[in-house]
Amino acid sequence: MFRPLDWFLGLFSLDIGIDLGTANTLVYVRDRGIVINEPSWVAINKRNRRPLAIGAEAREMVGRTPSDIVAIRPLRDGVISEFEITEAMLKYFIDKAHEQMIVPFPRPRVVVGIPSGVTEVEKRAVYDAAISAGAREAFLIEEPMAAAIGSGLPIIESRGSMIVDIGGGTTEVAVFSMGGIVVSRSIRVAGDEMDEDILQYARNKYNLLIGERTAERVKVGIGSAFSLPEERTMTLRGRNLINGLPQSVEISSIELREAMSPSINIIVDTVKDALDETPPELVADLMEVGICLAGGGGQIRGLAERLEDVVKMRVWVAEDSMTCVARGAGRVLEELDNYNRVLVGLHRGSTHH
Ligand code: ADP
Ligand code: MG
Repeated sequence: MFRPLDWFLGLFSLDIGIDLGTANTLVYVRDRGIVINEPSWVAINKRNRRPLAIGAEAREMVGRTPSDIVAIRPLRDGVISEFEITEAMLKYFIDKAHEQMIVPFPRPRVVVGIPSGVTEVEKRAVYDAAISAGAREAFLIEEPMAAAIGSGLPIIESRGSMIVDIGGGTTEVAVFSMGGIVVSRSIRVAGDEMDEDILQYARNKYNLLIGERTAERVKVGIGSAFSLPEERTMTLRGRNLINGLPQSVEISSIELREAMSPSINIIVDTVKDALDETPPELVADLMEVGICLAGGGGQIRGLAERLEDVVKMRVWVAEDSMTCVARGAGRVLEELDNYNRVLVGLHRGSTHH
């Protein structure tokens, strides 16, 4: 149905899709693309718990803060550990996107992608935060659903499809058919856990104490889940645990693969479990469509090959895999009529209007 008022407001209004990720928050604005891409970090004053810095600025403070300031990731485990802080972060990002508008009204419509493990109370909190941040309408969408839409999977069709979204704190596996989630798995093993694996490995094998960011850097640099055509090395710098002195070690991609294997194996097993639970008709569809990897962790070298080897079907990495959730959330607003029908996981808040 054509609604002239909506059409007219649409000329000026902002439609915002937000990926409230455990590691990164992204904001997608219609016709403009990704306008914000920052780490989901908040630096707070320990005494009164007031936010002092949010996003990239807060992350820069990690490990460098005076003792009364602490930098935290309020969504680290895929659950909202601190309502007020999450709210402040969401508000900051919505405001920042809104400020970039030439005409800052009417207020934006917002779709927020949230980890699928969050409870009803937490969903309510995110919804309220979006409204108090100035959204005129707010919707929540489960992250794997948004990731699938953003990756271009045919989720509305009766044909089955599967997404494996590997973020910082959580890996979400979901099988879709006719706009619904048929099978889903959410585990707290993802990029952070791989960093932790690498940290442990360096400690056990070389008595070398390294920082989280160093671990992440080598993971992104030469980490893999399958043997590489050309194995590589990188320098790990840290502190020797025995004599306390600075030390550097050459680490190879082969060692790193071994280091990361506990987390990678859990992710591979989770995909296998989800497939075991998928009805046969849909498995047949998946054999045609393949399995799509999304999220930052979806980019791990050789992960697609490793999975292909295990599940015997095509596995591919979504184009621009780190922005899938934000783009998918944004697309829901652009085609609300289309997706309203199918988005079972879309919760419209009800008490505030
Ligand atoms: P979230 O949705 O939980 O915020 P993201 O999808 O933004 O997480 O992914 C962040 C995770 O992806 C981090 O653990 C980061 O180290 C990892 N990551 C990013 N790029 C790569 C890469 N090229 N290879 C491996 N891991 C990566
Ligand atoms: Mg994510």
